[in-house]
Amino acid sequence: MDEFSFIDAIKPTAYKQSALIKGIGDDAAVFRSTSDIVTTVDTFVENIHFSLETMDPFHIGYRVLAANISDLAAMGAEPAFYLVSMCIPKKWKQHALEEIYRGMDELASKYRMDLIGGDTVSSDCLMISITAIGYVPKERARYRSDAKPDDIVFTTGTLGDSRAGLEILLQGKEYKDKDYFIKRHRLPEPRVGFVLDLREIDRMALNDISDGISNEANEIAEASGVELTIIEEKIPVSDSFHQFSEAQQHEWKLSGGEDFELLGTVSEVHWPRMQEVASLAGTSVHQIGYVRKAEKPCVLIQSDGETKQLTKSGYTHLK
Ligand code: ADP
Ligand code: MG
Repeated sequence: MDEFSFIDAIKPTAYKQSALIKGIGDDAAVFRSTSDIVTTVDTFVENIHFSLETMDPFHIGYRVLAANISDLAAMGAEPAFYLVSMCIPKKWKQHALEEIYRGMDELASKYRMDLIGGDTVSSDCLMISITAIGYVPKERARYRSDAKPDDIVFTTGTLGDSRAGLEILLQGKEYKDKDYFIKRHRLPEPRVGFVLDLREIDRMALNDISDGISNEANEIAEASGVELTIIEEKIPVSDSFHQFSEAQQHEWKLSGGEDFELLGTVSEVHWPRMQEVASLAGTSVHQIGYVRKAEKPCVLIQSDGETKQLTKSGYTHLK
């Protein structure tokens, strides 16, 4: 495979974003904007972040872009562009690489995102690095430092599904709602619509769930200098999540990660409006706790009437 025929094969035939002035084909891309620009990059390495044992190349592309779009959503941004840097080993053939791009394109099309550039080099293992770019109205980005005492802690969707899907793929046994869990693992849907529909709410802390809420809740607590309390029984899970062992359920909903749902906080005043908008958009949103002022930022978890500290790694110990 030569680099030029590869770039030719993955180059878009048309662009959707009117702000784009120059896409693929020059030394760099050019676009014009009057909004605040939000940008993020994520790197994925074969057999560390993804594996052909549990995913097809199409899923790999879809999922790596989903992770980036989820970061944009967590900033309150509307996705617009992405660039892809590929380090490619010889054993990867052009067709499989095109499948990765087809996966990315499938998700990008849902948000009218354009592929506007990238880089191609050879290496010993497959590495994909995506830079995503989005817009947010001036000074309206959502920060994890925006949580305030008395806020409600909420999460979208259900947690632990992606990790359950991975387990099903690794075990290869029969499980209830197998296809649902596998889909949540391979083809996650970042919560862009939810975030855009809620732009009217002036303050909200947001973080996307890529590592698990133990980690993300601690990031919000630290950035905002507050104490978050999470009530374990209130963490939303899918109906058939109960087929897994108690230990697995506990571990996966707190630290499974890669659900690409959102964890956030919002004032009690705006909570009813948030539920209303979410229900109109068909996104489920649940209160899972509350925010208190703190001497020392931390996350507490209540389960079975006991309160423990929830650390980043998900490990809980008695206070
Ligand atoms: P340069 O040598 O000027 O950096 P390249 O020859 O590497 O340019 O790339 C030519 C064009 O193709 C550029 O617009 C670049 O952004 C794009 N491109 C290169 N590799 C990729 C890739 N893996 N995915 C998407 N676009 C790419
Ligand atoms: Mg050049």
